[in-house]
Amino acid sequence: MTTTQKVPRRDEIPEHYRWDLTTIYADDAAWEQDVAAVERMLSDVAALQGRVARSADDLLAALQQRDQVSMRLWQIYVYANRRFDSDTTDPVGQALAERAGTLAAKVGAALAFIEPEILAAPEDQIRAWIREYPDLAVYAYALDQLLRQRAHVRSAEVEAILAQFSDITRAPGEIFEVLTNADLHFPSIEDEQGQPVQLSHGRFLRFLRSPDRRVRRDAFVGYYSAFQGIRNTLGASLAAQVRTHVLNAKVRNYASSLEAALTPNDIPVEVYHNLIATVNASLPRLHRYFQARRQIMGLDELHFYDLYAPLVPEADVAVPYEEAERMVRAAFEPLGDEYGAAVAQAFRSRWIDVYENIGKRSGAYSNGSYTTAPFMLLNYQERLNDVFTLAHELGHAMHSYFTRKTQPYIYGDYTIFVAEVASTLNEALLTDHLLQTRDDPTLRRYLIVEQLEDIRTTLFRQTMFAEFELEIHRRAEAGEPLTTELFSTIYRDLVARYHGAEVALDEEIALEWARIPHFYYNFYVYQYATGLSAALALHKRIVQEGSPAIERYLRFLRSGSSRPSIELLRDAGVDMLSPAPIQAAMDHFSTLLDELERMT
Ligand SMILES: [Zn+2]
Repeated sequence: MTTTQKVPRRDEIPEHYRWDLTTIYADDAAWEQDVAAVERMLSDVAALQGRVARSADDLLAALQQRDQVSMRLWQIYVYANRRFDSDTTDPVGQALAERAGTLAAKVGAALAFIEPEILAAPEDQIRAWIREYPDLAVYAYALDQLLRQRAHVRSAEVEAILAQFSDITRAPGEIFEVLTNADLHFPSIEDEQGQPVQLSHGRFLRFLRSPDRRVRRDAFVGYYSAFQGIRNTLGASLAAQVRTHVLNAKVRNYASSLEAALTPNDIPVEVYHNLIATVNASLPRLHRYFQARRQIMGLDELHFYDLYAPLVPEADVAVPYEEAERMVRAAFEPLGDEYGAAVAQAFRSRWIDVYENIGKRSGAYSNGSYTTAPFMLLNYQERLNDVFTLAHELGHAMHSYFTRKTQPYIYGDYTIFVAEVASTLNEALLTDHLLQTRDDPTLRRYLIVEQLEDIRTTLFRQTMFAEFELEIHRRAEAGEPLTTELFSTIYRDLVARYHGAEVALDEEIALEWARIPHFYYNFYVYQYATGLSAALALHKRIVQEGSPAIERYLRFLRSGSSRPSIELLRDAGVDMLSPAPIQAAMDHFSTLLDELERMT
């Protein structure tokens, strides 16, 4: 199945390459029965209202019922959405997914009284019950997390008003989406063949990777000219978003918006500051990489539109799916037999939907619920890059699998902070495997550049974003008016510092902040940088120490969200409060850079 053939219908794809949803429900009728069962459970839940904190037994009953209902709900949801994603043109799948979404909202609303009732009860009483009633012990960490929010929860009356405002605080992000997706008009440029093509978000990124410098430059200038025309509106919407974060922190008694964003997820603000400080100390390495890039590309001056251009040709290896399976299984061998057996099961039990078909959702993901397999969607095209995607998604799937096998429902998921660790670590293992088993110098160069680019775009660039976010929130907290001018000045200074004298400071780049949706997510992007650092540090320990490090890593995979993310990582051997893991990633970057310079 190569790209030259036309895209097949789903029923033309052999069953072996399609995920097996009958392991969730035998058919749609069985799904309907479960939907009806959840609807019935909601009336039992409603009967608990006003009673949650009356006694330890009532509290336990409420928490258990909540688990039962949501476990069932997410199973319903996963079946419907995998069905829909298999072929989005199928009206039956569309209807199931829509109904699952409606049911999820209904269940969410029906369960919403539980937490406020717990928070309204005397804290000592709840803590005494946790100590005294063994059946409540499993909920100890979850309840502790909730109780620690008490200092930031307002009276019932204030909370009710805040809840009504939550729609409005989302408005700046929504305005950004509509403005940049629906109302923004891009100019046309000439593509590599001289044909006029109108720019779009997707084409912009594709053109920035073009080997043709004229195309890259025109795309860069054209794309930013469109943002130039709406820059003041985007400045106003970002300023409004930042002010909602600042107001939220103030209303909820946090010292800063950073603290308000990180504390509910049990992440100390020091993690954030440590990341920024450690990356800043390593910026000369990044500048050295840009110097190497300029020399390899044979340019007098490196511009921002040159940063995504291919540095070496993509390794031209076609990898049939069966070979990809053998490849990743061999690559994961260092993780041991139990891990290997679970990966084998993923292939054998059809957790993976492999090939593209008409109507299938694009991209790749791993998604399941506590009571289903961790399914994986791929659009496998036989490129080396697709093998990396397979390894990546298997990392997510294995994290879910080992967590759900070990943890009770309440801790059966993992936090965003650790979400990319297992996936990134698997990519590192695949890179090792290829470097050890293949002798092709082109492939070697390609793998080295890929890793360098990963660290550049994930660790350096996301930290630069994190620094921008922190700075604009600080300005707002200090009462400074946030203007488009201020955003651009702060951003230009940051870009200059991160890129050094090696990259010509194109005037367009000062406006890059205006096109980044993540700045509306409330201190989110730093987790890309910490996640990559943690994964690389764990990978290094596994390679250097062998079994004790592997044991610790598998324990991490089994731990779900049963304790604070920082503690889980620390027990696996990585302290995200210290510079060490970030420093290790920087050292890896330097080693790769040395090798690239030797090779070219
Ligand atoms: Zn991922």
